[in-house]
Amino acid sequence: MKIKITRITADIVDIPLKRSHQFSAAKIDAKPFLILQMETNEGVIGIGEGTTPGIWWGGESVETMKLVIDQYFSPLLYDEDPRQIERILGRMDRQVFGNEFAKATVEMALYDIVGKLAGVPVYQLFGGQYYEKLPTRWALAIGKVEEDVEEAKVKMEGNVHHQFKMKAGNLPTAEDADRAIKVAEKLKGLTTVGVDPNGSWDELTTRKWMDRLYKAGIAFLEQPLPKWDIDGLARLKEMKKVPIMADESASTLSEVDQLIKREAVDIISLKVHKSGGMSRVKKIAAMAEAAGVPCFGGTSLESSIGTTAALHVYSTIPNLTEGCELFGPIWLADDIVDQPLKLSGGHIFLPEESGLGVTISQEKLNKYRRKNVMSAGGTQ
Ligand code: MN
Repeated sequence: MKIKITRITADIVDIPLKRSHQFSAAKIDAKPFLILQMETNEGVIGIGEGTTPGIWWGGESVETMKLVIDQYFSPLLYDEDPRQIERILGRMDRQVFGNEFAKATVEMALYDIVGKLAGVPVYQLFGGQYYEKLPTRWALAIGKVEEDVEEAKVKMEGNVHHQFKMKAGNLPTAEDADRAIKVAEKLKGLTTVGVDPNGSWDELTTRKWMDRLYKAGIAFLEQPLPKWDIDGLARLKEMKKVPIMADESASTLSEVDQLIKREAVDIISLKVHKSGGMSRVKKIAAMAEAAGVPCFGGTSLESSIGTTAALHVYSTIPNLTEGCELFGPIWLADDIVDQPLKLSGGHIFLPEESGLGVTISQEKLNKYRRKNVMSAGGTQ
């Protein structure tokens, strides 16, 4: 019997955070998610989750994803065979430019269906687990030196996280660099700290501070310069001090091709949503592998659904040697699934059930569903 997609629903939910989170461009108290449910004629339901750090990050938000999926992707998907993933990705690309986060949300539900149909966890569809567990960095994002240091110590004492990265970028570059150095120096010998200004630092000031950042033992400098400034990243890398990681600059396959050709990065941060799905993450990792560039498992701050999807593909990537930052489910005050992901001893583990291995809690979905889908919700 032909398998085909017969029903698609996309609900926006707002899940509260345990504490406020300071990004370079916004402070948030709740995280919005788009929960996609895709049903086949045989009753298999695939789950996808769409989320972004905020619309400031890459131009997409849960509201844009809902519109693109409801208006443009659902009509393409009805009556299609969910196992034809590459063909569906190609059709979405021809129909809608960009909007990689929305495409990744659809692809996630497709892989969940295929895994369930095959009776295997999604990681088996990507070549099997190379890593059974991944070390997870926690993001220090309170924005005050003493409080960030204290939070790191509490995480280490509780055996929850042993490595960290600092969110930066809401101060001028020099003040931000000074704050990062103070935090790193207070934690020196105990752990390692990376810094992520989300593309908001300027090159000249970054160069002036590079030696001090290096001496403070900063583990990596993630996307210090704007997404488009590949030459600037290459010049910072050329200093051979703190390793330069690309995040925003390393979204699509062609962007990663440019980064590699121009020798602009030491590490590539992978993310399922920014690249348009798990299969493209796998391709990007292979490009990096061929160039001898290690990868880091990035997060768009997903709930247990998107975090599990990321972990499925990350666990199959041999050159993902820099660990990950899949802490989304712990950062949220609640979750949308029945069984939140397992995290212990600073590592995150995969479920063994077929598909993604997560089930949506209908009670939570009802509780957190946004009543008016065009209201601002948790974003500011
Ligand atoms: Mn980042």
